[in-house]
Amino acid sequence: MSLDSALLQLLVCPVCRGSLEPMGDEGLACAACAKVYPIFEDIPVMLAEEAVPLAAWQSGKRQSARSRLSGLGQAARAADTAVPGNDEAR
Ligand SMILES: [Zn+2]
Repeated sequence: MSLDSALLQLLVCPVCRGSLEPMGDEGLACAACAKVYPIFEDIPVMLAEEAVPLAAWQSGKRQSARSRLSGLGQAARAADTAVPGNDEAR
């Protein structure tokens, strides 16, 4: 258990202020909202827009936020290489 249980008791759902249940070391679930807040590198992401629906989490889509972040990186790189003349200039 990497999350401190004292810290866990301080954390509440940002939407309904309800208590959260740990989902292993990878997320914190709000039963009332049926949402899971992902934990990245031991830091809970307590943002409503990053929450994963509980059903999606349990069906293995818990990496969605992380893969979306890497997707943003790929989009940024694609935009960079899409600048006209960029390849010839270097
Ligand atoms: Zn909630």
